[in-house]
Amino acid sequence: METIEKFNNNVMQTYGRYPLVMEKGKDRHCVDENGKNYIDFGSGIGTNSLGYCNDKWVDYVCNQVKSLQHTSNYYYTKIQADFAEMLCSATGYSKVFFGNSGAEANECAIKLARKYSFDKYGKGRHNIITLVNSFHGRTLCTLSATGQEVFHNYFFPFVEGFINVEANNIDDLESTINNSDNSICAVMLEYVQGEGGVNALNQDFVDAVFEICEKNDILVIADEVQTGIGRTGKLLAGEHFGKKANITTLAKGLAGGVPVGACLADEKCSGVLTAGTHGSTFGGNPIACAGGIAVLETVMSEGFLDEVNQKAELFKSELLKIEEVESVSGLGLMIGITLKDKKAGDVVKSALERGLLLLTAKEKIRLLPPLTIQNDEIKEGLEIFKTILEE
Ligand SMILES: *Cc1c(COP(=O)(O)O)cnc(C)c1O
Repeated sequence: METIEKFNNNVMQTYGRYPLVMEKGKDRHCVDENGKNYIDFGSGIGTNSLGYCNDKWVDYVCNQVKSLQHTSNYYYTKIQADFAEMLCSATGYSKVFFGNSGAEANECAIKLARKYSFDKYGKGRHNIITLVNSFHGRTLCTLSATGQEVFHNYFFPFVEGFINVEANNIDDLESTINNSDNSICAVMLEYVQGEGGVNALNQDFVDAVFEICEKNDILVIADEVQTGIGRTGKLLAGEHFGKKANITTLAKGLAGGVPVGACLADEKCSGVLTAGTHGSTFGGNPIACAGGIAVLETVMSEGFLDEVNQKAELFKSELLKIEEVESVSGLGLMIGITLKDKKAGDVVKSALERGLLLLTAKEKIRLLPPLTIQNDEIKEGLEIFKTILEE
């Protein structure tokens, strides 16, 4: 109680927090300050992709801390070079810009898309289409990009230049672009909308986006902040759709729990951001890069993603056996669960009491377990989940 009181007396109350004071963790389990054990199906919102304090990740991060924790981006570091090369080569992108969060990665993508268009066509072609129910971050610009009216309050004026189209509505997309007076420079999308309710886009819609964009020299920005780096069973979720966006943004799981953001650009637009046009004091920080290398080496290792897919199948088949589960959405280990009668928020609270950490997304339960979760741990957690749903 002492911690919670101290916390609430001193930290801004921007979150509805659960009464859990987390003290430590190892792999898929964490322990609160009273010594109670939890199995984690949330990974700190898909961030601890290798679980808590994964051995290799700890080694890489600690070794880096002991040699160089930070230097300004006026100098080079080998570790940033190594991480950048590894990330570009694994994803097939030409260049990367490092920031520290998903919102920053998206800010970079938005600036890049606008400058690409400005350089080529001059002023006026600055609008970006984003999808209804999307989520792109909490900075003023990424909030403006987010296609949910609930977020467009209090902070007026918002950043101009975002037009919303309904996800999976090709007619809406086409008419918006045709009526835009050639003012669109990019379409930004999440292949699986995370905060919006774990909804995957349709292949037809994704095909239409890429086709129309290609035809009109409009860039496609894939916000893979939540879906990227193995979360969906592929390194990037775009692979499920056979697509590579001009720009892809990454963050959450990329460095296994150290703050990082990355904006990847393909050959068409990798030269757009030039000296002085963008920057970040902490971006590409050596500790973040060390964490990122540990994650990438693990996720890219032989058979790792096959296992992610097998575990996703196990989750799905076990979940569908539960009477109270109406349906399961998402891709890979990004799982949305629609319940028949129970409220997601109530289930999350009961689960907490019983030692299971869950997330919600809109009216659904959302699972983003560590990619390293084991089959017996999946069963252990789902047993608790099932008990709650059957009460
Ligand atoms: C979480 C998230 C963001 C914002 O990331 P932050 O690190 O909180 O800034 C942006 N886009 C998507 C798809 C996300 O899931």
